[in-house]
Amino acid sequence: MEILLAQPRGFCAGVERAITIVERALARYGTPVYVRHEIVHNKTVVANLKAKGARFVEDLEEVPDGCVVIFSAHGVPRAVVEEAGRRSLRSVDATCPLVKKVHTAVARHERQQEEIILIGHRGHPEVVGTMGQLPEGRVKLVGSVADVAALQVADPARLAYTTQTTLSVQETRDIIEALRGRFPEIRGPSQGDLCYATTNRQQAVLELTAQIDLLLVIGSANSSNSSRLRELGASKSIPSHLIDSHLDLRDEWFRGVDRVGISSGASAPESLVLEVVGALLAKFPGSTSRNLRLLEENVHFPLPPELS
Ligand code: SF4
Repeated sequence: MEILLAQPRGFCAGVERAITIVERALARYGTPVYVRHEIVHNKTVVANLKAKGARFVEDLEEVPDGCVVIFSAHGVPRAVVEEAGRRSLRSVDATCPLVKKVHTAVARHERQQEEIILIGHRGHPEVVGTMGQLPEGRVKLVGSVADVAALQVADPARLAYTTQTTLSVQETRDIIEALRGRFPEIRGPSQGDLCYATTNRQQAVLELTAQIDLLLVIGSANSSNSSRLRELGASKSIPSHLIDSHLDLRDEWFRGVDRVGISSGASAPESLVLEVVGALLAKFPGSTSRNLRLLEENVHFPLPPELS
């Protein structure tokens, strides 16, 4: 069997930055350090940081007064930042700079008195954070072309859109096209606000699908960009599975498979990929593995000044 590894895959600059922030905060402030929500959506990353002393909570109420709290890479509503300030918590913001850019765009459109449409998945923490940059009801959410058809707006001449960063490239394109079709004057980035990591990983998997019989995506079920990679494989009629680790591999997936493609979501550590490859090489003696390189990524984000 041949194992083809999509490249780029795995950690993006925003995830690396967020994990480093938690590690530096633990080193600088000592334990415990509280993290609001999973710092990134990956079980292994969260378990490793827990073992080092990070405490993950969903609500600021769970953080004792005076403690350090880190906001996850997905970003938080303004109300959360304000509450942390009121309670004199020592907050550190690990929001990815590319999510911050979306927050800035939302604020700008609001200043320009434009009604804002957000393309995204209801309930995802990034969407909750982006919508929470403005008072409730000011950002309208659409998740599909059908939602666009049902959308009611105050003034079609004063409209703008923005997007979640980790959506499907194709679906986002379709929704933007539908928005532009219904509201020709709407303003927004032509490809949406999908981040480089989302776009590159999807493009690499797309290239892979032309050559494989089976796709394995390493990532956790709540990881948006990992789920989109699996869906992309399935949309090309390739049996595709999202797995947390080599422990999830099932023998029956490999019957009649000559070439297996592997990718990993932006929050999945490379060690998990290596474990999966190792397990496959052991399970199928004589197999080989190689990278299918699409492009090099060289993106790095600075740490917050207090931890750099
Ligand atoms: S997936 Fe994109 S938006 Fe999310 S943390 Fe990574 S670089 Fe930032």
